[in-house]
Formats: sequence, structure tokens, C-alpha cells
Amino acid sequence: MIDKKQKIIIANWKMNPISFIEADNLISTIKKGLKKKEDMRIIICPPSIFISKIKKNKSFELGIQNIFWEDKGAYTGEISSKIAKNFGVDYAIIGHSERRKYFKETDEIVNVKMKSVLKNGLSPILCIGETLKEKNQDLASDVIITQLEKAFTDINKSKVLNIIVAYEPIWAIGSGIVPSTDEIMSAVLLIRKIISKLYDRPTAEKVSILYGGSVNSQNALDFVDKTRADGLLIGSVSLNGSEFVRIVNLFG
Ligand code: PEP
Repeated sequence: MIDKKQKIIIANWKMNPISFIEADNLISTIKKGLKKKEDMRIIICPPSIFISKIKKNKSFELGIQNIFWEDKGAYTGEISSKIAKNFGVDYAIIGHSERRKYFKETDEIVNVKMKSVLKNGLSPILCIGETLKEKNQDLASDVIITQLEKAFTDINKSKVLNIIVAYEPIWAIGSGIVPSTDEIMSAVLLIRKIISKLYDRPTAEKVSILYGGSVNSQNALDFVDKTRADGLLIGSVSLNGSEFVRIVNLFG
């Protein structure tokens, strides 16, 4: 179970770097630079082909960027959460906007993945967030509510504290454009309100809710300290080892 008091920083490397030598260098920089902190969780999500060579250790844990919902079988090209678990993976990103966009992942697919991940003892990192068009049409809250309610369908309360929710407005991902801290706080509060409605208030208060989208070492601290978020999901900047370490070391 995730301890609510811990700050969580997640690195999503996406389809980078292109060689294991570069990945190994990145890991070395991270291991060397991170100061050990009891009250923080660092989760690295590399391309899955690197996972067996990057062992979780005292500096960080491992997440996978995508999983399939069945445990095993004739599903060419897929990796199940059962397989990932056997390789030391404890987290799985689910519902990232790039998967929703390029691989047509629906809210229903997100929900079956959530259930598979939880059944196999991993923690889902559920990504939700609105497009720029939806934001401009004042639909951001509706999108957050729908994505959240569908993702949590048929998920038992006993599993909810294993879930990490990442609010990632799609227009902020990789764009250098970021929401105000007030906008992030409103989204965090809305997410807690919905979880409270689906389960109860004490559960909602304990769920870890992160912000993601164009985080760097200049804005990272405000995105947590001024928004009631419990941490950050970092894409592009997590590929710069020293910048990633700088961000992590801002906390705790
Ligand atoms: C992401 O893709 O989840 C992300 C947060 O990317 P970036 O930090 O590059 O905006």
C-alpha cells in the first residue's frame, strides 16, 4: 500500500533512450545524485526491453509504461502485469494520453488494465486529463470525472490505496505550456471529491495524486507545494539525469 505521506516522483522515459548504454549512464547519474530519502518514492519507467537489466534498488523502484490485461497467452507483442511483476516491476502506467491517442485506448481498456494490474499486485499509475479543445470548451472537469469514474469501475475499496492518479492535461505534455498552480489544485481537489463519492472521504484523502506536464526544476516545487499534489510525473526532463536529480532533491 502506498503511504500517503510519501512524495512520489515518476520518470516516464517513453521510447527513449535508443541504447542500453545511454540508459545505463542515465541510471548511474540518478543513483549517484539522489540523496536517500525515507519520505519519497522514486519510480523509473524505462522502455520495457531495458527492465531486466535495470534492477530496482534503494534509490528507485521500477514501473512499466504499458501492460496487457491478460496474464499470459497468444497475444503477440504484449507484456502482462504477471510477467512484469516477475521482473521486479511494481508499477504500471495506464491510460497515458499517448496510448489513448496513438493506440486508441478507451476508458474501458483502461479499466480492464487497472483490474489486471491490481490483481497481480502492481500499482497502477492512472493518467487522466483533458485536451486543449476540451479545456477551451470548459469540459476539463467533465473529462476528469468521466475518465476517473470509468477507470475505477468495479475496483474494490480495498485496492484503491494502491492506485496513483496522475493529472496530466494533454496540452501541457511536452509543450512547455503549464497550468497555473490554482488550476492544478482545482483538478487535484476534484479528483479527491470524485474518489470520495465513489468510496469515502478518508480513502480519497489518502490516495496519491500527482501532476504531470512540462515539469522542470524551475516549476517543480510550486507544482507540489502550491497545489496539494503528492508528487510529479515527469517525461522529457527525466531523460536529463542531472536535471531529474535536481528536481527530486528539491523535496524532502
Ligand atoms: C508525460 O508524458 O507524462 C509527461 C509528463 O511529459 P513531459 O514531462 O515531457 O511533459
